[in-house]
Amino acid sequence: MYQLALIMIISSAEKVPLEKCPALVLNADFRPLSYYPLSIWCWQDAVKSVFLDRVSIVSNYKRKIRSPSFEMNLPSVIALKNFIQPSKNPNFTRFNVFLRDKFTCQYCGDKKDLTFDHLLPKSKGGLTDWNNVVTACSSCNVKKGGKLYKDCDLKLNNKPYAPTVEDLHRNGRNFPPNFLHESWMDYLYWDIELEP
Ligand SMILES: [Zn+2]
Repeated sequence: MYQLALIMIISSAEKVPLEKCPALVLNADFRPLSYYPLSIWCWQDAVKSVFLDRVSIVSNYKRKIRSPSFEMNLPSVIALKNFIQPSKNPNFTRFNVFLRDKFTCQYCGDKKDLTFDHLLPKSKGGLTDWNNVVTACSSCNVKKGGKLYKDCDLKLNNKPYAPTVEDLHRNGRNFPPNFLHESWMDYLYWDIELEP
């Protein structure tokens, strides 16, 4: 589901439903406000912030909204007028743990039926944090149960760690969100390495 091939480029046609027209939100330096989750606002919030003069419009959809006295194209990319200092430490979320571990079981390398495993089991006082939680497939998770991985014939491929935003960003290029408008591309993957 995270394959590039399945990315849906939203048609820029006039008739697109409004809820299919979210705006990508950039910080005042024109980089996305956040990558994980990707900073997107629904069209209502985007339009409201334009009228409150909190953002500038960088790019538009062809889709318009109209009232008897007013017409505007929905913004597809907006940029905050005031810079917000991005947090250096990513949130400890399910998605971010998977992203750190590249959506791969850290014991057997499987990419299906993923869940989480506590290296030091909770029953033995193990914490739910970056340094004790790894991505694991269901069968490795069941096999390990409440034991230590060394005691049940499992090998740990990577020691878990607290990633930086850059770590997640690097991994995230392989797992882009599955909902991208063409006008977002210039702002999302501009620093990707070019093929020689
Ligand atoms: Zn596994």
